[in-house]
Amino acid sequence: MMNYPLTLAQILEHAHRIHGDKQVTTLLPDGTLHRYNYIALYERVKRLANAITQFGIQRGDRVATYASNTYQHLELYYAIPCIGAVLHPLNVRLSPLQLAQIVGEAEDKLIFVDSGFTAQFKAFQHKIACQQVIYFDPTAADADVPYERLLSEATPVASWDIRDENWAMGLCYTSGTQGEPRGVLYTHRSMFLHTLAANQADVFGLTEADVVLPLVPMFHAMAWGLPYATMFAGADMVLPGAKPPCIANLIAETGVTVAAGVPTVWAKAYPELRKRRKDIGGLRRLIVGGEAMPLPLIEAYEKELGVEICHAWGMTEMSPTGTFSKLRGAHRSLSDAEKWRIKAKQGRPIPGVELRLAAETSNGFTELPWDGKTIGELQVRSPWTANNYYKVKPTPEHFTTDKWLRTGDMATIDADGYMQIVDRAKALIRSGGESISSIALETVLLKHPYVHEAAVVGIPDEKWGERPFAVVVLTEQTTENISDILRQQLASEFPKFWIPDKFVFVDEIPKTSVGKSDKRALLAQLASQNLLDKSSTVCKNQIVEPAHKK
Ligand code: ADP
Repeated sequence: MMNYPLTLAQILEHAHRIHGDKQVTTLLPDGTLHRYNYIALYERVKRLANAITQFGIQRGDRVATYASNTYQHLELYYAIPCIGAVLHPLNVRLSPLQLAQIVGEAEDKLIFVDSGFTAQFKAFQHKIACQQVIYFDPTAADADVPYERLLSEATPVASWDIRDENWAMGLCYTSGTQGEPRGVLYTHRSMFLHTLAANQADVFGLTEADVVLPLVPMFHAMAWGLPYATMFAGADMVLPGAKPPCIANLIAETGVTVAAGVPTVWAKAYPELRKRRKDIGGLRRLIVGGEAMPLPLIEAYEKELGVEICHAWGMTEMSPTGTFSKLRGAHRSLSDAEKWRIKAKQGRPIPGVELRLAAETSNGFTELPWDGKTIGELQVRSPWTANNYYKVKPTPEHFTTDKWLRTGDMATIDADGYMQIVDRAKALIRSGGESISSIALETVLLKHPYVHEAAVVGIPDEKWGERPFAVVVLTEQTTENISDILRQQLASEFPKFWIPDKFVFVDEIPKTSVGKSDKRALLAQLASQNLLDKSSTVCKNQIVEPAHKK
């Protein structure tokens, strides 16, 4: 057989030659839509590639982007790796200090800055080492060579020159939910194989007829691989810019069929989508990941909007897809409620990914059974899973001696191979030697019509080690004793020691830079307001925007 290197240039070339007329649509800040096709994109990428090399960028050099989901960012997603350099999308929501550290560690040689982030970037530019900057915005004060001029003056590259599929193509940092972000370096080969796996019918299942909307930012785990998967499938792509004012309008106007984002985004978008139900008939599937999609929200989308919810689990370290939740043929005869219960699990490993459940012993790890009950540490390996962090030697905390990645997640796996995250290992509440899953408690709390958002955290306790505290955002004001009502709701499903010692009612649960519940910030907030003391009783019943249950 030919020793044919697996590179991203193949994806670009295929999209150009076979699907050249397919569209990339970007929502611009003024609300208008920018459209062009893959042929136009291809031509710009070829000129951009040459332009980048004029800045002295060579094979292996890191080139950063500080950008939202736009066509220019998509062009960079191809141009940078296809000249052998390394695409490094910076998380625009990190603090200047974190960004300075990350840019320093990555040794970025050149940074592309989106129009919407010019001022934000300039505010911390003096703190970072990289001073070669190209602005999308031609009016940026020091935009000597703005992006468009750069492109118009460049000649197209004659051909791509990636000699080894194991060359690095991208560097992405974890979102830092539980600690400082860590860098993961992808290769052409790993991303190509991830793209093939993601595009299987029982995974993302994208087809040429789809219109795909990645709402997940392009700096969050490579937008879950969608910029590559969409173009390899030949589907149209819709890019939402920095902050689409109304997701429902964008979906209706562009005929989106598949969209991807974290659960918070879908919880927020539900009321608008419901209002425009008649105009979003083409929307067939949501790919949801980053954190657990609560079962009531899955039910609302499937029952009320007829949109299939597919839970995906993964990590930046896994390019990022690891499991995908689709029903099996054998599930066809189940009731809707039973189907949603399965869909609330994180799904089965996608082809190419191996999972194991492990318990640590004095001489290594022992494997645990796949019985849907036994909780263990989730470990993974695959051709698109990292074997170390960028510039850090592998440590036993993250990688086993037999070379599996320790995900930091605690999970169960059932006999059919459906994995369910119980909690992150660090978030699992240990009370009197027993484990309590914050995710399981949150799911049941969210079933109550008064609960708009819920987060359960472990608080140190002298007697039990830790005890659960529930933090709740209410959907409406009530004079009822809501703590007692919620306690009863939980008591019907969990043993007594699982019931949180205290319920605190707040206006909102803080979110991380990628929209996940930020329990570290929540704990700090509760501590600063002296709300961690069991005896303090604060009940701030609020009226908030109607959620999916209204
Ligand atoms: P960070 O760990 O900093 O949040 P990532 O964005 O890469 O960085 O997140 C990976 C983690 O997100 C996983 O280890 C898991 O804890 C969580 N996660 C991802 N997808 C899901 C999901 N569908 N359900 C529950 N948790 C998820």
